[in-house]
Amino acid sequence: MDEYQTKDSKKIFLEVDKDLCIGAASCAVIAPLTFGIDEKSKAYIVSKDIDDYETILEAVKSCPVSAIVLKNESGEQIWP
Ligand code: SF4
Repeated sequence: MDEYQTKDSKKIFLEVDKDLCIGAASCAVIAPLTFGIDEKSKAYIVSKDIDDYETILEAVKSCPVSAIVLKNESGEQIWP
């Protein structure tokens, strides 16, 4: 799980569980600076230059299989 800084300067930890991901792509539609879909139809984190916090939270919550883990800068799990 890697640390990222959102556009509005919040430190967060994000990880995609590729075993859970079913390629529904709602994460990448809502937060395209943060999530992409690879050639195996699995989500990945595009870069360190990611969306603002609320957009990322919305994207993470949109995942139908809760495949994205989001933690705050203290390491507390926000989602799922
Ligand atoms: S929304 Fe969830 S299932 Fe869909 S691509 Fe993103 S991580 Fe995978």
